[in-house]
Amino acid sequence: MVKKHKRLNNIPVLFDELGLTALSDSQLETLAEVDACLPQTQCGLCDHTEGCLPYAHAIVVKNEPYNKCVPGGQPVSDRIANILQQDSLSVIPSKWQTNPQTARPTEVRAVIREADCIGCTKCIPACPVDAIIGTGKHMHTIFTELCTGCELCLSPCPVDCIDLVPIERAPSETEREQEQAHLRQRYHHHLNRVEAQINDKRNAKPVVSMVQSKLNNVSNHQLNIDEKQVKDTIANAKLRSKIKKLEKQLSVRENEKKRAELARLKAELA
Ligand code: SF4
Ligand code: SF4
Ligand code: SF4
Repeated sequence: MVKKHKRLNNIPVLFDELGLTALSDSQLETLAEVDACLPQTQCGLCDHTEGCLPYAHAIVVKNEPYNKCVPGGQPVSDRIANILQQDSLSVIPSKWQTNPQTARPTEVRAVIREADCIGCTKCIPACPVDAIIGTGKHMHTIFTELCTGCELCLSPCPVDCIDLVPIERAPSETEREQEQAHLRQRYHHHLNRVEAQINDKRNAKPVVSMVQSKLNNVSNHQLNIDEKQVKDTIANAKLRSKIKKLEKQLSVRENEKKRAELARLKAELA
């Protein structure tokens, strides 16, 4: 049971595969601490497309390097080193500028150029914190105060009408902790809602985001519409998502293995 560790109770089904119930109390305690200091933008730039908790798990359970969080920058790497009582590691450099006030990468916020938006709704499921509102064929908008600048809504937009605007701010530690707790809660609500949609047999919409694909597998949803067509749509959506995610990751940090994987996926999609 994970009961002693409140932070790790009642988490979405997506995280069942982490096998938290098999971890020792001290592993769970460390995992909760590491997760608590991650930015909770769920951007996947640490190579964990399902977000901060799987990365924290990999750090604690699989000894994955703890210096990969791009939005967290050096301060988060140092904090994890402190939790693990290990020597500090320099954060893996990214192409993002550092904000001298916070020593973290400069934050950005997404803004939709509303005149260009065609109301296709594709950006909505991609946002891990449900910061985008809008309905089909109507202009969409983003709640700036909820947006984390994770950039996950950019690649699904067919008309490239989402811009990123840098913002300068330096929240206190307490403000940051509150913000992170709120973002984590919103992400979990998002995952629970997507899972409920997937399990609703009346819902026959194709899967459009990586997390949705994963939840689709986890939930073992039985599709009752043209199964081959849906499977093909899902497979292609997954490929496109992976390609766009890799392209985005490579725009932040160059990586030979990822570059080769990108070429392979593009060939597969073609
Ligand atoms: S903020 Fe992004 S890069 Fe950092 S741990 Fe969370 S998902 Fe990974
Ligand atoms: S609006 Fe876009 S950039 Fe902002 S949190 Fe949502 S997906 Fe990320
Ligand atoms: S994906 Fe782009 S065009 Fe479609 S609703 Fe979102 S912002 Fe508008």
